[in-house]
Amino acid sequence: MPLLVTGSIGIDTVKTPHGCSENCIGGSAIYFTMAASFFTHVRFIGVVGSDCPFNIREIFAGKDVDLRGLEIRRTSKTFRWAGTYMETMDDRVTDHMELNVLAEHPPIVPKAFADSRFVFLANTAPRLQIELLSQIKSPIFVAADTMDCWIRDYTADLSELMTKIDCLIINADEASLLARQLNLVRAAEQILTMGPSIVIIKKGESGSLMCLKDGSKFVLPAYPTTEVVDPTGAGDSFAGGLMGYLAHARKTDFDMLKTAVAYGTVVASFTIAGFSLDGLKKITRQDIDNRLEMLRKFTSF
Ligand code: AMP
Repeated sequence: MPLLVTGSIGIDTVKTPHGCSENCIGGSAIYFTMAASFFTHVRFIGVVGSDCPFNIREIFAGKDVDLRGLEIRRTSKTFRWAGTYMETMDDRVTDHMELNVLAEHPPIVPKAFADSRFVFLANTAPRLQIELLSQIKSPIFVAADTMDCWIRDYTADLSELMTKIDCLIINADEASLLARQLNLVRAAEQILTMGPSIVIIKKGESGSLMCLKDGSKFVLPAYPTTEVVDPTGAGDSFAGGLMGYLAHARKTDFDMLKTAVAYGTVVASFTIAGFSLDGLKKITRQDIDNRLEMLRKFTSF
């Protein structure tokens, strides 16, 4: 089943203890789409400005991605983001951010995409997430991600978004910020009162925690790997693997959700092995499935 995504397309500059990658392709929708396209057909919606140095069509050439929702806004500038990772790689600071197109009106959903049933609202302004979702006729499963800057400065929009989604996939620090609660189980329970029936908290190297409104819980560690070059996009590709698997299966019951979290975990472990999309570009679906089997072995006792 097709999976619709909107989010940011970024010109990123990333510094890690392994080096620096300047003006590389990034953005939440880009990482998500690359990851999800291993599992299902992806309908991509996003905007860049006339300064965008990347050929997005070339980036997704040969992938199962429909780019009719890609808009090049001649009068605008592309979203830019720069971040630095500390020695542990789990801590990141944002050095610079220019919202540019993300502060403007939302992209138009092509008519052919309006019947999408699975929708992911990757990190972008909550107002854009809401307005994009309003153009989809009858979605059956809507998940979203958000970030510190939207939680701090766009509280009303974000509260509205929370009432319209089934699942929130969010970083641990941001879950604590949103719920005003340091204990992550309590934070998840607090977020569940805001609207979604599923909350998935990403904890970087420590794995993830999924909590459902009915009290069900699932925890999984990260895939143990020594190849950690650049964690940028790990969260977006975790969501891409997870949502791609669910959309392909057309099911969202608890067992499916657990396997989806495992696929997300594995795809993220490939993303962090290189800067930008390098880690994801060199793998196949078979590599993902092989690593999933290893993760199963590592976590069963
Ligand atoms: P992640 O490491 O999964 O949190 O994703 C990092 C990606 O998100 C980078 O490629 C950035 O371009 C993009 N990004 C960073 N900040 C934001 C933001 N506030 N809104 C949307 N996308 C962002």
